[in-house]
Amino acid sequence: MEFRAELDPLAPYKPPRMSQEAAAERGTEGYVKLTSNELSFGPLPEAEAALAEALPRANRYPDRHASSLREAVAAANPGTDSQRNVLVGNGSSEVLLNLLQLVQRPGEVVFPWPSFGLYVTISVTLGLSPKKIPLTERHEAKPEALLSAVTEETRAVILSNPNNPTGTYLTLGEVRGLADALPKDVFLILDEAYQEFVSDPAYHGSHDLALERENVVCVRTFSKAHGLAGFRVGYGIATERVADYVERVRFPFSVNLAAQVAATASMRASEKIRARAGFVIRERERVQEAFRQAGLNYVPSQGNFVLVEAGPEVFEKAGVLVREGEALGFPGWSRVTIGDSGENDRVIGALS
Ligand code: PMP
Repeated sequence: MEFRAELDPLAPYKPPRMSQEAAAERGTEGYVKLTSNELSFGPLPEAEAALAEALPRANRYPDRHASSLREAVAAANPGTDSQRNVLVGNGSSEVLLNLLQLVQRPGEVVFPWPSFGLYVTISVTLGLSPKKIPLTERHEAKPEALLSAVTEETRAVILSNPNNPTGTYLTLGEVRGLADALPKDVFLILDEAYQEFVSDPAYHGSHDLALERENVVCVRTFSKAHGLAGFRVGYGIATERVADYVERVRFPFSVNLAAQVAATASMRASEKIRARAGFVIRERERVQEAFRQAGLNYVPSQGNFVLVEAGPEVFEKAGVLVREGEALGFPGWSRVTIGDSGENDRVIGALS
């Protein structure tokens, strides 16, 4: 059989230390896994209780509309209408897919680079051309560079804010400036997977901007601060018309029963999530300070990870698995997820 030639470069990513990662997940062989920007804590007790309550109902399809989840998201984002403005998906990955499914083809998708690899995969899969715009020397996205890359063919700009893997970010003022300057028929997709970990007071979530403008959407996830990566659930905030179109392409029941109840309970306990994110922010400072003291070059981060100029072997010898920068566009560097105190102690211990 002949398959579409543009799919040839999309070979699935295989981490070089896959068996050790699996061992770390099982808690065996003494490895800790700081490779995937997950939270090192399990779901909140509220989410676990909701799951236990839902389990006997697993024979039934879940709520097709995920109404309770949409209500919890709306309640946490003032001004958002649960019926009109909330998108849901099987991870924020699916929300991103659904958004790009709406745009006309052929066309280009512009995003800063290095950034989250899925933007390339989704674009190519949908028959859109990815257009990678290099980060600045300080590893930051540059709004002017993104704007000057926009052409008649551009259908969307995706901004990972903060950016994975660098942890750099644009303030809401800068994002607003970008939205103002972008043609109104180009989507601005603000991927805020790590927004809970931003400590800078000059940054606030972008949902107001997404409610104001049809071409701006913000996308978030339960996989990071909420500690629910295994259940695959994400959400977005958009105007009514965008939400209506997303619902046309979304797979029926894409958010399963377990994901719906756990995410709803977790969102309702937003104070506890904020406290957990606060812990990660403090630990991020501790890890960055250790990098500083070890004389290592690193990128000051607003995510739950830090990109540091040291090879993965530096950490691996202490039993710490990190994401090798090679796979992320930073050969010789590593992206280190912030874990729990003990895990971060091991990261710091690896430096001496
Ligand atoms: N966006 C960014 C920037 C990410 O780093 C990730 C996960 N690594 C995602 C989206 C996808 O997360 P999920 O599908 O688990 O919600």
